[in-house]
Amino acid sequence: MTHSTATPSSTYADFYRRSIDDREAFWAEQAQLIDWQQPFEQVCDASQPAFARWFVGGRTNLCHNAVDRHLPERGEQNALIYVSSETGIEQVYSYRELHAEVQRMAAVLLDLGVRKGDRVLIYMPMIAEAAFAMLACVRIGAIHSVVFGGFASHALANRIDDARPSLIVSADAGMRGGKVLPYQPLLDEALRLSQHPPQQVLMVKRGLAEVTLQGGRDVDYATARARFLHTQVPCEWLESSEPSYILYTSGTTGKPKGVQRDTGGYAVALAASMRHIYLSQPGETFFATSDIGWVVGHSYIIYGPLLNGMATLMYEGLPIRPHAGIWWSLVEKYRVNVMFSAPTAARVLKKQDPAYLSQYDLSSLKALFLAGEPLDEPTASWIGAAIHKPIIDNYWQTETGWPILALCSGVEPGAVGQIGSPGRAVYGFDVRLVDEGTGQDITEPNRKGVLAIQGPLPPGCLQTVWGDDARYLRTYWSSIPGRDLYSTFDWGVRDAEGYYFILGRTDDVINVAGHRLGTREIEEAIASHPNVAEVAVVGRADALKGQVAMAFVVSKNPALLASAEATREQEQAIMQCVDAQLGAVARPARVCFVATLPKTRSGKLLRRAMQALCEGRDPGDLSTLDDPAALLQIRDLLG
Ligand code: AMP
Repeated sequence: MTHSTATPSSTYADFYRRSIDDREAFWAEQAQLIDWQQPFEQVCDASQPAFARWFVGGRTNLCHNAVDRHLPERGEQNALIYVSSETGIEQVYSYRELHAEVQRMAAVLLDLGVRKGDRVLIYMPMIAEAAFAMLACVRIGAIHSVVFGGFASHALANRIDDARPSLIVSADAGMRGGKVLPYQPLLDEALRLSQHPPQQVLMVKRGLAEVTLQGGRDVDYATARARFLHTQVPCEWLESSEPSYILYTSGTTGKPKGVQRDTGGYAVALAASMRHIYLSQPGETFFATSDIGWVVGHSYIIYGPLLNGMATLMYEGLPIRPHAGIWWSLVEKYRVNVMFSAPTAARVLKKQDPAYLSQYDLSSLKALFLAGEPLDEPTASWIGAAIHKPIIDNYWQTETGWPILALCSGVEPGAVGQIGSPGRAVYGFDVRLVDEGTGQDITEPNRKGVLAIQGPLPPGCLQTVWGDDARYLRTYWSSIPGRDLYSTFDWGVRDAEGYYFILGRTDDVINVAGHRLGTREIEEAIASHPNVAEVAVVGRADALKGQVAMAFVVSKNPALLASAEATREQEQAIMQCVDAQLGAVARPARVCFVATLPKTRSGKLLRRAMQALCEGRDPGDLSTLDDPAALLQIRDLLG
């Protein structure tokens, strides 16, 4: 039905050049990987590079391409393999069964009044119904906004107010490490805090926690589903640029940005990436260990594998419970062909007995892809040696939806890459390194610059920030005046062979276990504590999580810090404040109480100096520092 678009003889350099120099022909070919209900008239309208539109005039549907399209050939093939090591539930859905479940969910959404263009917020743990809900939304043209289940009320309320959903789909509870995490109290509090709460909540009861359905607001999914067991819900054909979803991500302000994705461009980009980057063929099994609340979950648990006619394994649980071999036992059991995880997970496994990794038959597995944070060489070598498979780094962002830098082994079989590099520029991405001072491209090798992409971005990347074109332009496209350059906010260097190396963020965003967090957001949560006068949060390098947050707090009431025990209590109270507002994922590793924060004479926080001290490095030039005592105190505290 579909075919590989790379000819075996093409080298990657030719493939890449064609994607940039002959953009239209290149992407018109890739677009054959999906079905179009109505063909597009133009491949790319780049008249406004920041707002490029892909496959203009074409009509398609993500759910049709991910599910319905495969029914004639793969109806009985596995589509969704759901495994929860928390509840012990394993459930396999064929494409035919997935199709039926998605239609049931879609029928319920329609019955609750959801229509094309409406937003549906999905606040759910990793259960199959979350996948059904995402696919059901795109089936009927509703725009989903999945909020990571680990986020707490305040973070959820912010996202509700920005997306203004007409409905929230949620569940009674998540479960992590054997602990039940009830969602309803968090959801109720978020709805209370929200300025624009939706009128309806669709609740999936897994039987983990008590839920009290509020009359007039809450609908029980099982009861609603039972009314639509055999309902057929046709796909709503969307113009390629109509939005499929919003996914919030952190930036330098406290207000998260809603990354808005299109429909046709995203489908084409993902389908192509499965072949060219992720070494995946229809009929195979893909296992991405992420969560649907993150971009990897959207692109490579749900849409990518299904668009490519594969089985996708959706896993709820930790990598080391009930035992450190759980993931590999699943690879053996379900004959997983390609796996995708994050370096942090590999570092967690590294602490376990390596015997766990070698006792399963991993012969089906072609490679393990890792992304989301820098991959250190010891971790890459360790996991590679433990599972005897290629470990392939790739670099991208929530905004781009698929890799910017990678080894395109599907195009260039056997490519080995460079240690410490996520790879070369991926086809379609006109990657530049820019000198921050001059705004000029850096052409010579091994010189540090800001990693940027010359517009237009390839298909599948963000279209705008939801509801705020001005913020989109200001944030991403204005760093070099006069140039149509998208900034990634990452520093990088490129070697003579075109391999890039990532050197950290240019902004105040930190990356904890592969999760992007804005230090500003954490500061705002801490500042809401009644005893906090001032706060600064910086990232500190961490052997396991890549980075962790460190909070420096000036107390309003130093008398409360009279003893070590009292100080610990204050620290706990502040951590709980972050847990309650943002979720445990944002909790700082330490809260240090200081008399003043180190600032310049003009009042600017010296974050880099604080970060350097946290990491035991030289804080650098302190000539602008207003009060040297502030930094000395931090150094003493950190010991
Ligand atoms: P997120 O949007 O949450 O996926 O975070 C994207 C950010 O994570 C990037 O801007 C990088 O700072 C970092 N990142 C993602 N993948 C990699 C990688 N392979 N190597 C180094 N940093 C990465």
